[in-house]
Amino acid sequence: MIDDYDWQLNFHYRENGTGKNYYKSGRVKFIEKNESIVNAIVLDDYEFKVKIKLCDDKYVDSISCECGEQSCKHMAACLHLLSNEEVPDNENKFMEIEDILDKLKDDELISFVKKQLKNDYNFYREFREEFGL
Ligand SMILES: [Zn+2]
Repeated sequence: MIDDYDWQLNFHYRENGTGKNYYKSGRVKFIEKNESIVNAIVLDDYEFKVKIKLCDDKYVDSISCECGEQSCKHMAACLHLLSNEEVPDNENKFMEIEDILDKLKDDELISFVKKQLKNDYNFYREFREEFGL
């Protein structure tokens, strides 16, 4: 479960309160966790997708919502859920490429690129064209 004191610092009283009501009335229709990445769907007038990246399973590293607002009630609803319930890791699930990229550390990515540059000549050529020299 995440540290609720930490994330609540960033929320306006009203969005936080509405989000709490949304959570309690079961408007978080779907939530799944893949290591540090949480994807959720919150039902409002429409369904809104909320994406959260956690740090140490305890703090919010980044968060976004389809509604486009900063610190919205949809985010707050998901964060109230994460503060009150354990969402188990869904390890074997297919992950979106975007989520994989979000999860990777820079040095992991660089070492993979180096390996590909050695083994894949087409990749090597495209890499040179893209980044010059
Ligand atoms: Zn929202």
